[in-house]
Amino acid sequence: MIGVLALQGAFEAHQRHLSALGVANMQVRGPGDLFLVDALVMPGGESTTMSKVAVVTGLEPVLRARIAEGMPAFGTCAGMILLASEVRDGRSDQISLGAIDIVVQRNGYGRQRDSFETELDVSGLDAPFHGIFIRAPKVLSLQPSVEVLASHDGVPVLVRQGSVLAASFHPELTDDHRIHAMFISHLVTQSVTPVKEVS
Ligand code: GLN
Repeated sequence: MIGVLALQGAFEAHQRHLSALGVANMQVRGPGDLFLVDALVMPGGESTTMSKVAVVTGLEPVLRARIAEGMPAFGTCAGMILLASEVRDGRSDQISLGAIDIVVQRNGYGRQRDSFETELDVSGLDAPFHGIFIRAPKVLSLQPSVEVLASHDGVPVLVRQGSVLAASFHPELTDDHRIHAMFISHLVTQSVTPVKEVS
């Protein structure tokens, strides 16, 4: 079962992709939900708000623990910010889960490029992927253990470290399932159970 962090943001869009791929998924809102899932998708939205809600609901310590014990995760935009090891221009109290060794700058693409769309060459995909960037985080640096799967203007925008995948952009806001499929197929090769939906 794949969880989708449903504290705020575009979580339903992620659920649509997972369901279209035939993968059982559920919303994660409280600490107990995290024990029911094999992997977690963290949506775009507002990382500072998600942080606050995670603390208030008591989700934060369990989320940290599950991530620390290696729960696979896929974060987009705000989700990438939450997964990063270090956040620049964030709120001092926002959480960083340290699931992937990247330093990100919140809203790092600056005002005039607050939002933009571009075609991305993604390693492993045979045709470009439409990247939608909305007040996106910019990856400032990464450790050698982090694999870059796509870049824009020389800056990594899709990165993977083990079972953690993070995108500066929003695959969930397209109809293209390929990046979600990439996350799921990685889980399959790692033998994490992405249970097929039974209907
Ligand atoms: N700038 C937002 C943040 O700091 C992320 C934007 C997004 O997810 N589209 O969380």
